Amino acid sequence: MEEYDVLVVGAGPAGAAAAKVCAEAGLKVLDVEKRAEIGSPKRCGEGLSKTSAERMGIEGTDNSWKRAVITKVGVYSPNERSVDMKFDEDQGYIIDRKVFDKMLAEKAAEAGAKVVAKTDAIAFERTDGKVVTTLKSMGKEWKVCSKIVVAADGVETKTARALGLETLMKSIDICSGFQYEMVGIDIDSAKLYFYFHQDKYPGGYAWIFPKGEGKANVGIGIRPTWAKKTAKEYLDDFVESHDFLKKGSITEVNSGGVPVGGLMKDMVGDNLIVAGDAAHHVNPIHGGGIAEAYVGGRIAGEVAVEAVKANDFSKGFLSRYNDKWWEERGKRLNGIYKLRQVVESLSNDDLDWLVDELNGDDIISFTKGDALKKFGKILLKRPKLALLARKLL
Ligand code: FAD
Repeated sequence: MEEYDVLVVGAGPAGAAAAKVCAEAGLKVLDVEKRAEIGSPKRCGEGLSKTSAERMGIEGTDNSWKRAVITKVGVYSPNERSVDMKFDEDQGYIIDRKVFDKMLAEKAAEAGAKVVAKTDAIAFERTDGKVVTTLKSMGKEWKVCSKIVVAADGVETKTARALGLETLMKSIDICSGFQYEMVGIDIDSAKLYFYFHQDKYPGGYAWIFPKGEGKANVGIGIRPTWAKKTAKEYLDDFVESHDFLKKGSITEVNSGGVPVGGLMKDMVGDNLIVAGDAAHHVNPIHGGGIAEAYVGGRIAGEVAVEAVKANDFSKGFLSRYNDKWWEERGKRLNGIYKLRQVVESLSNDDLDWLVDELNGDDIISFTKGDALKKFGKILLKRPKLALLARKLL
């Protein structure tokens, strides 16, 4: 049986980051991905801010994964008045996940990790302080042994549970996403569009993320807890009610769940570290998880390297991952979680009112978890929102 220091399950951003960090430190690492092509099919609006790309350490390295440069943002309230932002510098990109995820996996492979597509991790068993994992590819099954397993297997993770760590979340913290990639639509190809309406996009929002001239990811995220129909039906209504979208064609259909809360205090077990969507590492207000997954994977890799050096793969040793992640990202995301709870409690009338109270800089800083008290103070201007405002003060 082949032996590894670390087995990474999943080659999305979290898995690629973990594998790269482990390989760079000289560990023997295997990263398995069940899909035939890494990054495909995409389940993503493909939005990535420039600050996120910088946090991932990939800004300025290569432009092959960028499809559009974003310099404008429009946030539309229920009556479709908007807060508009225009920037002198690039704020972010619409990327091509099929190129992007493969690029991240290639970086892990270049660092020395063995990456294998179309290979499903199907069973796990702890033996003699290690984990024996059964892998399956094209009808063939075999086993590998590793000191640590990094579960980077996305929102539908099974790995952590199989190794004794429950990652289930409350249904209220799950967002259901549905998206069309569309062509032949009239949009500003440098602008992100966000639409809010508590009945039309319950517990979420609709987005248009341009991917070049006349082309965009047009999607919706809703929370099934409050929904009266499927995410697809809400999206079809959104497209039908906007003439500039209605005339377009659909070239790709994507769907998937997004964890928008349920941050875990404990993300480790004996021989186990969980990262990315599998550990609910997503910004709870907008559902962006690419950079969060990458950072979670990077920290998982760093802790795995320390554990191999110390020859200690116990839950006690690996729990330093919990501390590191909460220090670097968790506290901030937890603040944003509170913001999410406040925003989803606002009425359509409140959202329309907010358009006159907020400016673009405010919105951007709130979504990053900055100046949340300022948002609370703005809400205090409406006496009926005082109780809600206190959550942020
Ligand atoms: P994933 O990217 O899901 O990777 C996990 C991988 O593990 C998958 O490739 C899967 O095939 C593999 N896997 C699973 N089980 C096994 C197994 N047993 N064996 C082997 N491999 C396995 N985020 C943004 O930042 N910007 C956006 O615009 C955005 N839009 C979104 C729109 C939608 C509709 C959805 C659903 C999500 C969106 N997200 C967005 C979220 C983002 O896609 C995820 O947060 C991100 O991909 C998480 O990365 P990950 O590595 O944790 O998981």
